[in-house]
Amino acid sequence: MEKLIVASNNSGKITEIKELLSGLYEVRSLADENIVSDPEETGSTFEENAFIKAEAVYRLTGCACLADDSGLIVDVLDGAPGVYSARYAGEPSDSAKNNALLLANMKGKSDRTARFECAVVLYKSPEDVLTGVGAVEGRILDAPCGSGGFGYDPLFFCDDLQKSFGVASREEKNSVSHRARALKQLMEKVRI
Ligand code: IMP
Repeated sequence: MEKLIVASNNSGKITEIKELLSGLYEVRSLADENIVSDPEETGSTFEENAFIKAEAVYRLTGCACLADDSGLIVDVLDGAPGVYSARYAGEPSDSAKNNALLLANMKGKSDRTARFECAVVLYKSPEDVLTGVGAVEGRILDAPCGSGGFGYDPLFFCDDLQKSFGVASREEKNSVSHRARALKQLMEKVRI
């Protein structure tokens, strides 16, 4: 099976990507490969940032690399936290602080529509780079519901599942998530 290095330090994402690609690739994390890579995410879109992360690890290893960049888009907050989702409440990235800030900024807001978006980039060589994108619609809850998943999951009520990502099982989240949809689109391009 072809080896694929996932260019991420986020253990929640890596677990999901390993589950979603199991049987297709030998998925390895940066930690598995003893690689340190944390390039500055200077892009203004998820796709640009995923490319930056995948290219950085390709340059270090020469191996096929997959990077995901993703985040939460809240309509009433003009798309925030968006590409700043990981560091919404400042650096270093802290999910509890990010969630508390999101709840504070949503206080009293009746329009709670939101979506997770994801871009994945598969970088096999400078001449062979493929991208997939995906999204999942939902709304921001008034209070956390469940403790599963990672990041903003407990605050996100998923329209497709009719439940919070914080209470959804891993299989349920993987059946509808922005990441699963982006990977599906990418895999369709790989097969062409
Ligand atoms: P990135 O590592 O720069 O792509 O940051 C993504 C950030 O978006 C994460 O740290 C989370 O805060 C948030 N995020 C992305 N995908 C998910 C998800 O599936 N569930 C919950 N939060 C997510």
